[in-house]
Amino acid sequence: MNGDTTLPEFSRAAVVRQMGRPVKIECVPVPRGPEPGALIVRTTACSICGTDVHLSRGNLSLAVDLPVILGHEMVGRIVAIGSGADRDSVGQPLSIGDRILWTHTACGSCYWCTVARQPTLCENRRAYMYENIEKPPYLLGGFSEYGYVLPESGRIRVPDNLSDAVASLCSCAFRSVMNAFDNLGGIDPSEHVAIQGAGPLGILAAAVARVAGARSVSVIGAPDDRLALAREFGATHTFSIQGSTHAERAAEIRALTDGRGPDVVMEFTGHPDAFGEGIDLVRKGGRYVTVGQLGAGTTTFSPSTIVKKNIRITGSFSGDAKSYWKALQFASAHVDRIPFERMITGRYTLDEVNTALERMHRLEEIKPLIVMG
Ligand SMILES: [Zn+2]
Ligand SMILES: [Zn+2]
Repeated sequence: MNGDTTLPEFSRAAVVRQMGRPVKIECVPVPRGPEPGALIVRTTACSICGTDVHLSRGNLSLAVDLPVILGHEMVGRIVAIGSGADRDSVGQPLSIGDRILWTHTACGSCYWCTVARQPTLCENRRAYMYENIEKPPYLLGGFSEYGYVLPESGRIRVPDNLSDAVASLCSCAFRSVMNAFDNLGGIDPSEHVAIQGAGPLGILAAAVARVAGARSVSVIGAPDDRLALAREFGATHTFSIQGSTHAERAAEIRALTDGRGPDVVMEFTGHPDAFGEGIDLVRKGGRYVTVGQLGAGTTTFSPSTIVKKNIRITGSFSGDAKSYWKALQFASAHVDRIPFERMITGRYTLDEVNTALERMHRLEEIKPLIVMG
């Protein structure tokens, strides 16, 4: 470790010691310097993901080694560079003061990294917000004045024309969307796309599908303000799940997709029952990608639907450096036409994190942002 006298001794951070209790602001040690390949950043902003709400409330079926620093959609400016860490994951030079996004880790030397080439499935994966912060390097979470970028983490420099708010959207939320499009094999301009879920991921997916040239982009969800935002992002049609049945919505969507149903259906809801509706909605021989299911819930559906309709179903978990890069490039290219900033419905200080989490839980926010200042 390189000693660095410019680093403060502690970073104020939002710490979860017990789920279901309010998050507490604590002083977490700042490492004296980055190890080779690592970076230390001053976090500038971190948007709130639905997963943060689930973790803090104890509704998450992923392993969490408490205590953790909450938050994982962070953007930050580099304040210390470990040896050999002077380039990002696509070879762009990195200097003190540059803004970056960084990824969960992949080891590069396991079956999943090397043979399957699916680094998000790495068996040695380390994930920000899930690791105990009582041992070095401590700062493995987003709602913190300082953050530590592990040597095995991908890192991508943020284009200058993006605000911190839009850059943070490009982390967990947007990279998950980009990974889903990759897993689908992309969109053909002749295709109709339907998106289940009008949260941040569904709305971002509507933008990508429209720019990709999809013939129609239908977003199914609620409440109405989210559907309105989905239209501003590129949805050609929206369908509220409030006051309508799946059968009614499916009939309307079939009518606008030549009677066949959408060629592609993408799921970003988090509700298990959406799965059965999705495979019912997609056309024969179509593609279905499910992204939003991270809880332990179950559902019933008829497997014969998959067989008789010859559907291709794929899951999409998280995203690697490639997906972060694609999200940042898409946002940078379209930031003048797509109102990304409007998805950030509230800005809060670190000390207001519990209020922001509560408002997110009550669907009073689409995407709140914690601004570290
Ligand atoms: Zn690995
Ligand atoms: Zn997330």
